[in-house]
Amino acid sequence: MAADLKPQILFAGGGHTHLAALGALAQRVRGRARLVLLSESSQLLYSGMMPGWLAGRYALHDCAIDLRELAQRAGVEWVTDTLVDIDFQARQAVGAQGTRYGWDLLSLNVGTAVDPGVIRNAALTVLPVKPFGHFVQRWQEWLARAPLRPRCIVVGGGAAAFEVACALRARCAATGPMQGGSVCVISAAPRLLVDQGRYNGWLAARSLRARGIALQCGWRFVGVQGQEVLCERGTSPGRQATQAFNPDDDGGKSDTQDAGAVSDVEGAAQARWLRLSADLVIVATGAQAPRWLDAAARRDGLSVGPRGGIAVTAGLRAVSTPRVYASGDCADFGHLRVPKSGVHALRQAPALVDALTAGLDALDGIAPPHAGAPYRPQRRALALLDRCDGSAMATWGRLGAAGAGLSHWKTRIDRAFIEAMNGGPPAAR
Ligand SMILES: Cc1cc2nc3c(=O)[nH]c(=O)nc-3n(C[C@H](O)[C@H](O)[C@H](O)COP(=O)(O)OP(=O)(O)OC[C@H]3O[C@@H](n4cnc5c(N)ncnc54)[C@H](O)[C@@H]3O)c2cc1C
Repeated sequence: MAADLKPQILFAGGGHTHLAALGALAQRVRGRARLVLLSESSQLLYSGMMPGWLAGRYALHDCAIDLRELAQRAGVEWVTDTLVDIDFQARQAVGAQGTRYGWDLLSLNVGTAVDPGVIRNAALTVLPVKPFGHFVQRWQEWLARAPLRPRCIVVGGGAAAFEVACALRARCAATGPMQGGSVCVISAAPRLLVDQGRYNGWLAARSLRARGIALQCGWRFVGVQGQEVLCERGTSPGRQATQAFNPDDDGGKSDTQDAGAVSDVEGAAQARWLRLSADLVIVATGAQAPRWLDAAARRDGLSVGPRGGIAVTAGLRAVSTPRVYASGDCADFGHLRVPKSGVHALRQAPALVDALTAGLDALDGIAPPHAGAPYRPQRRALALLDRCDGSAMATWGRLGAAGAGLSHWKTRIDRAFIEAMNGGPPAAR
């Protein structure tokens, strides 16, 4: 940092934590630092409303947060670029065209990506649900040329897969390009929503079946070959199955079905492999840190978690490198159990503001820097899952409920959040 220049704080990624932290930090450190928000798109699709958008209930602008405007309101500089690398030693982030962005403090909030599995000669469309930016574009392209009565498979057993399946089902039930299509959910876990208790798993499964969505638990998605989706029985980690991707050596113990016709895999009771014909596969399994970030962190000797997230303290500082902070889904909190959710990412904002203020104090030689309050994840958080038919399911720890009233409540919360993030109701702007 040159003596006559203000230190630069680079906010990499317009994720949920940065949304909530930018304004507060800008107020706190006004005049002391140059703040820059860099993200690949000026719009962030709000995950709470994403299923409603996928179902066709919301237009994209209803559920998008304008990051550029948000930055402008906070007095923060805005840059549109896609990061492809970070040189932690030289303290530079690298954009898609090779532009280098220097920083004195770096705050990472770039979310996650979903592994689409092994894809060979795919004659169907495979869409990883994250990152949303890519998903939105590819979904729109697919929808514009969707085949008649498409057979859709959703891979995953968590809240995201549940909501995506309900959204697709709503599309298939309504008039439009997907009318008459079918939806099947495949999960490696023995039941849905495994972290939210048996009752919620049962309620989610019942919700799917009541809407005509087929459900296959205990089948691990391996990948796609031609027009078929390949799954292996059981919940074991996938390396073995990935190596044995072609199940031709299975002694004939595999079963091919049409995803449109699947309601039960009784015929495959003894089979090791399950192959389903499909037109669209949406992969909504456990998210991992983006590959470029994982690779850069490992190369430069940063500690990373098992899913590639930057290992951080409860104060959101990278454990192995000074001047680097991470929050939201791209952070790994070690022994602290922090679910990957927008709610938790948002709640990390006060701790991030404290941590960056302390980092700036340290750069300015203000000692001893005030460390700020660490982030303490709440034990339970309310989740409202959109069933995309005018009803929703709520979970709070192991408790759960479903009904139309919850959907009205969810809609009010979601719309209020979008309004607040976009600067208040239109009249107030
Ligand atoms: C279908 C679905 C529904 C969900 N519903 C909910 C819900 O109702 N409630 C809830 O709490 N959670 C929900 N989640 C989870 C939620 O989406 C994530 O946990 C949350 O978005 C994580 O926030 P984040 O701040 O870590 O990053 P994100 O919100 O993912 O933001 C990452 C930001 O970084 C930017 N970015 C990414 N890569 C780059 C790059 N290379 N260069 C520059 N910028 C980049 C992105 O454009 C984006 O602005 C849902 C997830 C899915 C898949």
